[in-house]
Amino acid sequence: MKKFKIVIVGGGFAGLQAARSLRRLRNADMSLIDRTGIATMVPALPDTLSGRLPSEKLFRPLPELAGRNLGVILDTVESVSLAHRTVTCTDGTYAYDGLVLAGGSVPVAVPPPFEGPVHSVDSLEGAGALRAEIEARVGRDPLHLVVAGAGYTGLEVAAAARRGVPDPKALAITVVDTAQDILPMLTDRQRSAVRAYLEKSSITLCTSTSVRRTTGNVVELSNGATIGNALFVWSAGMRAAPIELDEQVERTPDGRIVTTDPLALPGHPEVFVAGDQAALTRDDRVLRRAVNFAFYSGRRAGKNLAGHLCDRRPKPFVPVDLGWVLPLIETSAGRIFGGLRIGGRLGLRLHYLMCGFRHFGGRRAGTFYRAALNLRRTPAPLSSAAPPGGRHGNRS
Ligand SMILES: Cc1cc2nc3c(=O)[nH]c(=O)nc-3n(C[C@H](O)[C@H](O)[C@H](O)COP(=O)(O)OP(=O)(O)OC[C@H]3O[C@@H](n4cnc5c(N)ncnc54)[C@H](O)[C@@H]3O)c2cc1C
Repeated sequence: MKKFKIVIVGGGFAGLQAARSLRRLRNADMSLIDRTGIATMVPALPDTLSGRLPSEKLFRPLPELAGRNLGVILDTVESVSLAHRTVTCTDGTYAYDGLVLAGGSVPVAVPPPFEGPVHSVDSLEGAGALRAEIEARVGRDPLHLVVAGAGYTGLEVAAAARRGVPDPKALAITVVDTAQDILPMLTDRQRSAVRAYLEKSSITLCTSTSVRRTTGNVVELSNGATIGNALFVWSAGMRAAPIELDEQVERTPDGRIVTTDPLALPGHPEVFVAGDQAALTRDDRVLRRAVNFAFYSGRRAGKNLAGHLCDRRPKPFVPVDLGWVLPLIETSAGRIFGGLRIGGRLGLRLHYLMCGFRHFGGRRAGTFYRAALNLRRTPAPLSSAAPPGGRHGNRS
């Protein structure tokens, strides 16, 4: 009996679910390629800065999660030849009969002329590096964290850093955004509450403002401010993981690949795309990047690939939007179940419960459930929490 070669690119929420759905295929040789070799709890990365969750609770080695019939390859995928059915990585080339692309997203390129160091909290290394830099520099001269981008991530990073270093004289925090206001999906009341929270936390919000230049540790803003001894964090948008294909495919402006309803690449029924790398839609609108959509699209992509290899018809992916929560350390703002407003600690609890449920399963999920239950406990300040990245912090 022929053994199918299956390759899954990316061991995040979508890739792992695809792998789990494909597990039952007996006649398959399955490989999961990931550049880090770990599954990262991305939504909780800002907690590396707050001290609520130590970084070693935010990842798990992929081989532990993979199960028996899935080989994990630690490598970076550079390109895919759809014509030859091969995946080319930095260290090798792999042939496939069926492929799932689930490489997630990366921060949009930082535009010139940003000459100073740029931080980003999109990976365990990135979050760990920022934390290490804050720890190394805080307490000497007053330090100033400047976050470009007042979306979910930028605000979460600012709130977490404030919790990590509560003294605004030791760490000033400014969040800058070119938009006139923050978070358009919130109601006016929720937006006011978030603004009040930022003010109470001594986080300065500069809307209609851009970062003009960074040089060394100096950040210049379009409102004329020049900020010295700064730490610059880029949080101004994401784009799909840059994996080259040898054929022109339709993409959204942020690089997400347009698929058929069952998540296949048009003209290539053996290739499925899931998670942040796919332009997942509902009612013809591209959905926001979210764990929920990544999780279920990965599962559907895996099932459809298994079906394709067994001559079964693939089924469309029908996303269900459960809502979202913006966690802000001791409070939150969000909407669930199609419009129900949620906030405060209830929203926070839901955030951590969903983090736990969606990823690691079993005992690891317990870490997040406990974080959800222990919200009254003050997170450990930065200087006393575990070191960033832990033993695995230098993986690349
Ligand atoms: C700071 C932050 C906070 C967030 N908070 C929330 C939240 O509260 N709620 C929510 O719903 N969503 C949140 N999101 C979005 C959510 O994390 C993503 O939508 C989700 O992680 C997407 O899952 P994925 O499997 O598509 O990609 P990922 O989880 O990013 O996994 C992609 C995997 O692919 C690997 N990879 C990438 N490129 C390559 C390559 N070239 N070669 C090999 N491997 C590669 C990566 O190493 C990674 O393991 C947040 C995102 C960020 C950055």
